[in-house]
Amino acid sequence: MRRGAFPWADTKGSANMPSQPKVAMDIPAGDTMRQTTCYICACRCGINVHLKDGKVKYIEGNRNHPVNKGVLCGKGSAGIMQHYSPARLRAPMKRVGPRGSGQFEEISWDEALELATDWLGSVRKKDPRKLAFFTGRDQSQSLTGFWAMQYGTPNFAAHGGFCSVNMAAGGLYTFGGAFWEFGDPDWDLTKYFVLFGVAEDHASNPIKIGIGKLKARGAKIVSVNPVRTGYNAVADEWVGIRPGTDGLFVGALIHELFRTEQIDLDYLVRYTNAPWLVIDAPGTARDGLFARDASGNPLAWDTAKGGLVNGKAAGITPALTGRRDLPDGSTARPVFELMAERYMGGDYTPEAVEDRTGVPADQIRRIAAELAHVAFQEEIVLDRPWTDWAGRRHDKMIGRPVSMHAMRGISAHSNGFQTCRMIHLLQILLGSIDSPGGFRYKPPYPKQTPPNLLPHGASGDIKPEMPLGGPHLGFPHGPEHLLLDDAGQPSRLDKGFSWDAPMSAHGLMHMVINNAATRDPYGIDVLFMYMANMAWNSSMNVPGTLDALTAKDDAGNYKIPKIIYSDAYYSETVPFADLILPDTTYLERWDCISLLDRPISEPELVADAIRQPVVTPDRNVRGFQEVLIDLGARLKLPKFVNEDGSPKYPGGYPDYIVNHERKPGIGPLAGFRGADGEDSCVGAPNPDQLDKYIENGAFFGLHMAPEHAYFRHANRGYLDWGIEKGIRMSAEPTIFQLYSEPLQKFRLAAQGHGDRQPPERARDRIRAHFDPLPFWYPPLEEQAVSGYPLHAITQRPMHMYHSWGSQNAWLRQITAANRLYIHDSVGAQIGVVDDDWVWLRSHLGRVKCQVRLMEGVNPLTVWTWNAIGKRKGAWGLDDDAPESNQGFLLNHLISELLPAGGGGYRYSNSDPITGQAAWFDLRVAIEKADGAGETEPRFEPLGHASQPPSPRKLAFGRSFRKART
Ligand code: SF4
Repeated sequence: MRRGAFPWADTKGSANMPSQPKVAMDIPAGDTMRQTTCYICACRCGINVHLKDGKVKYIEGNRNHPVNKGVLCGKGSAGIMQHYSPARLRAPMKRVGPRGSGQFEEISWDEALELATDWLGSVRKKDPRKLAFFTGRDQSQSLTGFWAMQYGTPNFAAHGGFCSVNMAAGGLYTFGGAFWEFGDPDWDLTKYFVLFGVAEDHASNPIKIGIGKLKARGAKIVSVNPVRTGYNAVADEWVGIRPGTDGLFVGALIHELFRTEQIDLDYLVRYTNAPWLVIDAPGTARDGLFARDASGNPLAWDTAKGGLVNGKAAGITPALTGRRDLPDGSTARPVFELMAERYMGGDYTPEAVEDRTGVPADQIRRIAAELAHVAFQEEIVLDRPWTDWAGRRHDKMIGRPVSMHAMRGISAHSNGFQTCRMIHLLQILLGSIDSPGGFRYKPPYPKQTPPNLLPHGASGDIKPEMPLGGPHLGFPHGPEHLLLDDAGQPSRLDKGFSWDAPMSAHGLMHMVINNAATRDPYGIDVLFMYMANMAWNSSMNVPGTLDALTAKDDAGNYKIPKIIYSDAYYSETVPFADLILPDTTYLERWDCISLLDRPISEPELVADAIRQPVVTPDRNVRGFQEVLIDLGARLKLPKFVNEDGSPKYPGGYPDYIVNHERKPGIGPLAGFRGADGEDSCVGAPNPDQLDKYIENGAFFGLHMAPEHAYFRHANRGYLDWGIEKGIRMSAEPTIFQLYSEPLQKFRLAAQGHGDRQPPERARDRIRAHFDPLPFWYPPLEEQAVSGYPLHAITQRPMHMYHSWGSQNAWLRQITAANRLYIHDSVGAQIGVVDDDWVWLRSHLGRVKCQVRLMEGVNPLTVWTWNAIGKRKGAWGLDDDAPESNQGFLLNHLISELLPAGGGGYRYSNSDPITGQAAWFDLRVAIEKADGAGETEPRFEPLGHASQPPSPRKLAFGRSFRKART
């Protein structure tokens, strides 16, 4: 179309389109501009904050920043109202009324810290297990985890257990990377992009920028999601799948690749364990393990040599099929053959899965053919020589331009780990992991498979006034790495790394409050939480959580005796805590987005970032990390004090960021290290480091050499460079684990082999789910309840991010009350039209809400926006706020625990492998409700006497306008 053909392209305006006001871009927005990092969602975009007379006037995207390249979303712009929210806490507080009453008295920081030190110190002296320290949307887990390790409690994790652990663990056990935020499609080269269950989850601006690139190039985008909104609405093809059946759909795609023999066999031989031999000796302790030589190397059958060889050796020509004899008389078969057998079997034919998934067999076959066509007929060849792990030189980089991304629609199901692994298998069969046009690692990934990091916190590791022997969270390789006490019971309060959830790499935060109140596996003395609104939006079930927070024993004492909570806002959780440590807003704080934690790297850039205070708090609040370092010194935690007992970081969090070394030369920030600031990643602490970051726009980026850009799991140059830069522990290649031996080790234990075996009640569960080859099984809630024909899920809106965003004065003008979206056919069936009220029932309870009919949803699925409903009295909102009267949560329907099985034991409503909360498994029934009304259940308004009243009308910018006139 010629320039100017669009009516609105006429800058003078036209009859069709009102003219837009002219914005003078060259006039500074304020008198000062400071650069920092957005914290309204998990993307961590770079922002320029314009100030006038010390007040925030305008936020724009930082054009030089690697994450957003100047793009700022609506949430990021509205950060101004987050910062000026009337719900901000103002001072430390001590509870003086019953829990939930909201009766607090303000206290000084000295008193607050003395009280916290007293409570935490006595627990540490007696039994450090009795502290449970869990953080929510924390972006400083390398510090919070380190603090908990020094304290010595095994009970630490962040919110990953109900967010994304299935993605992290599924990826790291398979190919040493992950969807989530640790990898990206090759936006510039990919030609076919498939999204599974993605709705503004962990990538907002980056995915929008990427999809824009794909659209500009005409690449095909396929979205697999029960709901057609957001990214799914702009996709070229929408696969409106039934929730929890993605594994069947992907299995059928894999079936088609095998059936049509369109698999990158060279890639499998070079980079995966496809040729490794798996022992076939049913009933023995070796069954299903890899056959190994005397040095422990996995064996393969070499077709040239006609014998067994080290499967990891370079230059072999391994067989991918055929039963082989082993020296001990048993036989073994290669992984590839087992895979072919599974996926060629009848369970995964397109016809076998179409009814259950709701995806027609023809569509499955066509998508599989398109994937194969793009991968193999439209390969990308880069004239870029590189050297592989064995020293072999390659003239070119050859890529398969198919990429994928997946998130909560996969993760939040109890079959999510195996489904995620199956998606990775699909990528690997197509040869598209870290190849041009495919899915790309972001450094410091890839890691080894499984990563070498093991969990710590078994009972023998917990001693009064002693730190833990290592980090809490890790990746068990077998039952020997579970965290159990001498009686085989869970060592952790959340039962992470126990037989209930052996590979719970992020812990199970969603179980902490329930388990503490039921004292299962044991009671605690102090619950310490940061930025986790567990009493409302984030937990699995609201009424259950409120009961747990207020439960009392026979003597009338709270079963969770003391609760310390830190947040910036008066959320629904604040009134239930005993001691409040008020946090700053994101514009008032130092922070460190670290390579030790969740960095902001891009595929060809090692990157990290800081937040700096761009405004001074006008309240008596302190950044939580600052407070934690102070508490560490007061408690005399070993790495937070000098030998003489004085604080190690008297300058607080900035002092820690600059001077803390996790290993010699490696600290929280990778940039501008060394005395002269010239070192990257490894180098002595540099006192000017933060100034350098500020000069550089609040981030640091180290570009990689072009020959290191792909095949990093096996790229000699990258592997060596990674060691030199401290971002990789091993120079060995990462070998993709199509078949996961750690899973088989757990299964063998359940079959009665080895020193460590599960209790009787857990044997069938482990035998059934710990299959070393990915497979699909029905979500656990679906297996346990009947009479609930519909699936209920949530989607995260573009314009909000959890409860923080839905109290934002600008953003709530977009959505202040959510609706339950149902398919037109469901509406017709129960006789409702838009805005009618319905009851939605689960096996646990019911919610009353208003509906909106739509076509773009799987007919068996109802859904709503995440985290809009609010309890009266919280968040500085009026009692008549739509969020409280019409807004609702599905959480009221979700149970923390599955119904009791045989023997009466109730497992967590989670993935049996990783413990990921299965909140997308929810099954419901729907019926029309009488008349109009308000949402139910309704809860008593929370007391909020400690908070100043919110202004009747919340306005921003008047003072700036006045100054202009
Ligand atoms: S995408 Fe997230 S981090 Fe980026 S500007 Fe928007 S809210 Fe901020």
